[in-house]
This record gives sequence, C-alpha cells and structure tokens, in this order.
Amino acid sequence: MQSESQLRRDICDIGKRIWTRGYVAANDGNITVRLEDGCLLATPTGVSKGFMTPDMIIKLDPEGNKIAGELNPSSELKMHRAVYAMRPDVKAVVHAHPPTATGFAVAGIPMNKMLLPEVIISLGWVPIAKYGTPSTEELGDVLKELLNHHDAMLLENHGALTVGHNLTNAYFKMETIELAAQISLSACLLGREREISPANVEKLMQVRKKLGVQGMHPALSSTPRMPAAESEQETCNHLSESRLADVVARVTREVLRNIKEMD
Ligand SMILES: [Zn+2]
Repeated sequence: MQSESQLRRDICDIGKRIWTRGYVAANDGNITVRLEDGCLLATPTGVSKGFMTPDMIIKLDPEGNKIAGELNPSSELKMHRAVYAMRPDVKAVVHAHPPTATGFAVAGIPMNKMLLPEVIISLGWVPIAKYGTPSTEELGDVLKELLNHHDAMLLENHGALTVGHNLTNAYFKMETIELAAQISLSACLLGREREISPANVEKLMQVRKKLGVQGMHPALSSTPRMPAAESEQETCNHLSESRLADVVARVTREVLRNIKEMD
C-alpha cells in the first residue's frame, strides 16, 4: 500500500478530477481511503474538492474520531463508514453527483440495461438505493443490501456512490457510471437502446473471470435486475399507461380546441 502522504496527494488528485469533470458543484462530494490499520483518510467539508491540498485531508481512527487535521469531515462520512463496516475488501469510497447518472437517480430509472461490454464486465448494472436523508444513518441502512452485490450505485434524488479495492479503482467506477449514463441517454434520444444478448453477456462474464476483476458483481449473486424506484417504470421507448393516457388526453384537447377555432 502507498504511504499516507502519497494517499493524501492521491485524494487531492481524484478530488481535482471529479471537480474538473463536473461531477460535483461547490463543496459537494466526498472521498475516503481506509488505511491498513483501519484508520480513514477523508476529504474535509466546506472545501471544493477541486482545490484541496494534502494538509487539508483529515485522519480518523477506526471509530470515526478525528485524530489529525484542522478541518472537519463531511457529515456524509456516516455513509462511508457504513460501507467499510459492510465490506472488508473495500479500501476506498467516492461519492459525487455526476449530472447524467444523477439524472437517472432523479428520474427513478436504474441503469439496468445490458448496453456496453466494459460496463457489464466491471459493474453489471447499476441500481438505485432508496432515498435516505444525506448525512443521517438512513443512507447507510439502505446501502447495506445493495453492497452485497454492487460496487456502484445511484442514490435516489441525490447522486452516486462507488467503492473499490483502491482509490483509483473506486474513482474509475464513477467515470464508468457517468459515461454509461451519457451513452444510454444519447441512445434514448436516438430512439432506442438495443441490449447485448444474454449469451453474449455470459461470454463477457467469462472475460471478467479471466481478467480476475475484483469486487462485487450482481451477476455473480444472480440478483434480479432492479425495477425503477417507482413501481411505474418509464423509459425512452416506453411510456407508462397513465402517462400515455395523459398524453392522449392532452393531444385530444388540443385537436378539439383547434377544430373549434377553425369554426
Ligand atoms: Zn452528496
């Protein structure tokens, strides 16, 4: 494992990347790394993640008490600690609000289509964790079930969370989620998303095995692909029945109004 001073620099570097890429605004987002002795390095609250210096990084003991640093940790540290408690294999956690992926989280549409080989190999599909008030214990509780099967998840009406066996690995999963969300949205705008066949998904899982990719993957625990947060799922090429009825009613009203005006 790298030295603590190197990890402090790495956290600042990743902070700069998430800010430069527009995954966070103002002082949003947080990053933590677990050291070998169980202590955590954490980004401070009230500071833009694009402008951190290594001395701003806070150190906490395994119980979450601050043992070094002038600034204070984010209240979302509870969420990070819940991850570490659940997953001994996880050494880093990244939380951000990447706009397109967060759009899926706001729309209540999980990224559960088999669209891109790289995403299938590394993450499988990305579920939405039910809404929990940021900075409370609620979020930790809702994440617990998902962390058994996933290394990346959307947080309903909030953002995204990725975990990894090191910091770069956790961060790359954040990039993967956002790019996959952008591509999925582009395909939606073009009119359709064509999924990779189950037989080819199976082949990709063999590739994952051969590559020795670390971390959880939903296909390994055969979790069902999650429906949308709302029972009523709506995607680009499928309007729910009630929405369809709505659209039909609106168009009908418009047509009738036009006919009246023509009279
Ligand atoms: Zn947040």
